[in-house]
Amino acid sequence: MSTKLRKGELLHPDQSRGVMLEADLEPVRMPPAPRILVIDIETAPIELLGWKIWEENFSVDQIGQDWSILSYAAKWVGERKVIFEQTGGRGAAKVRNDDILMPGLWRLMNEAQIVVAQNGKRFDIRKINYRLIRAGLTPYSPVRVIDTLTESRKLFAATSHKLAYMSEHLTDTPKDKHKRFPGFELWLECLKDNPAAWAEMRKYNIRDILATEKLYLRMRPWIANHPNLGAYNKEAGGNCPKCGSVKLRHTGHITMQVGVYAEYQCRSCGGWSRGKEMLNPKAVRASKMV
Ligand SMILES: [Zn+2]
Repeated sequence: MSTKLRKGELLHPDQSRGVMLEADLEPVRMPPAPRILVIDIETAPIELLGWKIWEENFSVDQIGQDWSILSYAAKWVGERKVIFEQTGGRGAAKVRNDDILMPGLWRLMNEAQIVVAQNGKRFDIRKINYRLIRAGLTPYSPVRVIDTLTESRKLFAATSHKLAYMSEHLTDTPKDKHKRFPGFELWLECLKDNPAAWAEMRKYNIRDILATEKLYLRMRPWIANHPNLGAYNKEAGGNCPKCGSVKLRHTGHITMQVGVYAEYQCRSCGGWSRGKEMLNPKAVRASKMV
């Protein structure tokens, strides 16, 4: 359930001066660059051979079958098309063989300049990287990773930073619950190559990236040190660093350690930026102490 304020709705009339609501934003069509990829992988669990289920530590000798990627869903931000690939549909013996996914994954990562993923820094990107190197692929061209989980932890004291909670409260696309195969059953049935389970996995995996994209776009104006989207505009002129929009509102000046700069708020995403040029004369700056 989204908790956005509606246009014109404010907590108190006295607080309204200069306050910009998300409802007042004017989205614009952005230039095609950079390519921002939202991605989410689902993995097969490690099959471990153990003697008991409680307080058991495993060595690598006890691995029956190692983990692998089962499927991935991906989407370019701002485009409608959803990309999904799975290891299923070829019989249970091939479900844990993810070689079939590697060319597609590599090409997507290679084409992206920015990759967005929930828990992507710790999980998805490193998992993808390992499977790629294992399959004998060279590195894809460098990407900048935006992890909605770590950014959320930095920025907000939300009760939970999990996608299920954040997407329910900050987007209109809550995470799917895969009710037909609840919990671990979905993975067990996919490993048996059950087509109904794969259909559910596909739905679940795709829903995750739709939720992640919405969450990312809602959070983006708050993210500090977001890659500067304005830098991708080959022509001169001011773009919002967060979203690339040219609809900027000059709000005044911002004073840093010694320099004074023009300050802007984006009318498309609400993010803040400043000009690069120092507006106070050099002689004035030179007279300051730091
Ligand atoms: Zn913006």
